[in-house]
Amino acid sequence: MKDTRLTKFTDLGLDKMLLKALHDEGYEKPTPIQAQAIPGVMAGKDLLGIAQTGTGKTAAFALPIIHRLAAEKQAAPRRGCRVLVLSPTRELATQIAESFKAYGKHMNLSVAVIFGGVKYGGQMRAMAPGVDVLVATPGRLLDHLQEKTITLQGVEMFVLDEADQMLDMGFIVPIRQIVKHLPRLRQNLFFSATMPSEIEK
Ligand code: AMP
Repeated sequence: MKDTRLTKFTDLGLDKMLLKALHDEGYEKPTPIQAQAIPGVMAGKDLLGIAQTGTGKTAAFALPIIHRLAAEKQAAPRRGCRVLVLSPTRELATQIAESFKAYGKHMNLSVAVIFGGVKYGGQMRAMAPGVDVLVATPGRLLDHLQEKTITLQGVEMFVLDEADQMLDMGFIVPIRQIVKHLPRLRQNLFFSATMPSEIEK
C-alpha cells in the first residue's frame, strides 16, 4: 500500500468548496483511513473498510461522496435520495448527518435523517422533494419502503456503517430487504470495526 502519511487534503483533488469546509472545521490533514479511502471512493470504487469510531471514518466516506455528488449534479428523485447511509443507532445516524451537513455547507447539500421512535409525518415531509443524502436506521427505513413513502430507486452510492454492530443488533434481515430495493448498479461502501464472516458475505 502507498505510504499516505504525508498526504495533504489538497493532494486528493477534492472540490474547492469541500476544502473550504474542512478548513472551517479546523482539519489540517487527512487521517490514515481518509488518505487511503478517499482516492478510490472518488474514482467510484467499492470499499470494504475495517475502521473503529474515532479514526475519522465518517469523513473518509462523506468527503468523496459529496465530491462525486457535486461533480455529477443531478436532482434526487421525489421521495428518494442519491446516497443512502445505514447506521445502527439514531445517535450515530444523527452524527453522520451532521457531518455531511458540515462538510457540504458551501455546496447546497440536502441531508435527511430517518429513525424509529418518532412520528412519520416529519420524515415524510423531509423526504417528499427528494434529498442528496439520507442517513437511516434499518427498521424505520423498511417501514417507509413498505408504505412507499420513500423510494431507493435513485440510489447511486450505498454506505453500510458499523456493519458488525448491525449484525449484533439483529439487523441482517431488514438490511437484506432494504438492499432488494436498491438499484443493481451502485457504489458500495461498507465499514466495520471487525470482519465476521457473515459481514464479509
Ligand atoms: P469518526 O471516526 O468519523 O467518528 O470521527 C472522529 C472525530 O474526528 C470527529 O469528531 C471528526 O470531526 C474528527 N475528524 C475527522 N477527520 C479529521 C481530520 N482529518 N482532522 C481532524 N479531525 C478530524
